[in-house]
Amino acid sequence: MRIPVIAVSFLALFAVNALALPQESRVPGGVALLPLTGINTAQPPSTWYRSNRVMVVPSTDTRLAEQSRWVAVIGIPLSAKPAKRQHVRSEGTSFYFSIQEKAYEAQYLTVPNKRHVEPNPEDVARWQRERRKMNQAFVAWSQPAQAVSRFDLPTQGPFSSAFGLKRFFNNQPRNPHSGLDIAAPKGTPIVSPASGKVVDTGDYFFNGNTVIIDHGFGLTTMYCHMSQIDVAIGDQLKSGDIIGAVGKTGRVTGAHLHWSVSLNNTRVDPTLFLSE
Ligand code: ZN
Repeated sequence: MRIPVIAVSFLALFAVNALALPQESRVPGGVALLPLTGINTAQPPSTWYRSNRVMVVPSTDTRLAEQSRWVAVIGIPLSAKPAKRQHVRSEGTSFYFSIQEKAYEAQYLTVPNKRHVEPNPEDVARWQRERRKMNQAFVAWSQPAQAVSRFDLPTQGPFSSAFGLKRFFNNQPRNPHSGLDIAAPKGTPIVSPASGKVVDTGDYFFNGNTVIIDHGFGLTTMYCHMSQIDVAIGDQLKSGDIIGAVGKTGRVTGAHLHWSVSLNNTRVDPTLFLSE
């Protein structure tokens, strides 16, 4: 039997990244690795969760490979309800998985600029425009030759705020923390933690100077509060390329990098993607 050349080359491409999947954590804000049992397509099957396309990679992990040829790598939103079964569709077949509760701690912060806590109508309109622009970057779907599913750290410094914290700014409840904060002095270089393409830059109301990188297959990363941006939309990056520097622009209490990781347009815990 002849095996189609395209299928062979595709699998060979992914073999380079064998066993480099994110750490699984089936909780709100975590990642599910779901074997797509019974789907035997030659190419990665088109797979959807909550109306977003999902990353699918060949099962190179022996435990998963016993169950299926393909594994969906699914970002679970912080707002997901553990009581509800999660529904995934792939090539006309329904798959389900369940998630567990995770208790995220509360964090109380005092920000000096009151407009960052109680924005005026102009600020709100600006933020809504900016959010739409950023959202386009998060929903982008690209299929680069080199798939990415693990990251190096984008800057050096202590983790100062974990992902998922329930947040209170000047004692008022706000959205939970959608990224990981790394504290570092202003000017500390920020590098791309993997190969990717710059798909958005801007000076945003809450996020300050911001860069978004598309790593392909629905995986994107965002860098906020930068003092400077050294890349432009369309730039192709390799792991370790400098994209800018740590700063304190936007809604901050001090200089740090806010780093978000998004899978299927869902912000998830960046630490699940770190290589040891
Ligand atoms: Zn942050």
